[in-house]
Amino acid sequence: MQNQMKALVKAKPEPGLWMEYVPVPEPGPSDVLIKVKKSAICGTDVHIWNWDEFSAKTVPVPMVIGHEFVGEIVDAGAAAVKFKIGQRVSGEGHIVCGTCRNCRAGRGHLCRNTKGVGVNRPGSFAEYLCIPEVNVVPIPEDIPHEIAAIFDPFGIYGREIFETWYKMIALVQSGLDVSGLITHRIGIDDFEDGFAAMISGNSGKVVMDWEDT
Ligand SMILES: [Zn+2]
Ligand SMILES: [Zn+2]
Repeated sequence: MQNQMKALVKAKPEPGLWMEYVPVPEPGPSDVLIKVKKSAICGTDVHIWNWDEFSAKTVPVPMVIGHEFVGEIVDAGAAAVKFKIGQRVSGEGHIVCGTCRNCRAGRGHLCRNTKGVGVNRPGSFAEYLCIPEVNVVPIPEDIPHEIAAIFDPFGIYGREIFETWYKMIALVQSGLDVSGLITHRIGIDDFEDGFAAMISGNSGKVVMDWEDT
């Protein structure tokens, strides 16, 4: 496999994002490597683009950002055996430590050591994304790519991790049409247009396609 990939990087502590070549992440024993097909822009990404106070305090640079995505598993660590190579997946962007008091009590959504994909660990605005297997959410065949790529925002507030994922998948499968939320579908090389639309406030979800890079 190639060892460099295209990624949207917060390369400097100032407004903007830059398309750069960075090393493809290597999955650890419990991780999977995902080839990203589509990735959506979230409000968090706009904060990071703008480099507001939150971002300056939270995001170390350089950092590959983005956390809403759909893709396909292409590699897995030796202990990551739950999913198959080629399986279509998305993932939960909050990575918890598993060992703090809240995690041990089954309250991972209250973990104090949470790391955010695309916030303080490398994210999904890239050809490849590496996340722990426990964060993977398998996507059923009848859910389109672009819908799977925007599942994340539906339950952001106070959610119990993963509950929203399963609820949203069930709702979409039973006929809820959320495709109207997507106002822009663009190739990744047009990311500046996508961010301009989000920053203008006159857009719904912007979904960026990584497949023809
Ligand atoms: Zn988000
Ligand atoms: Zn924890």
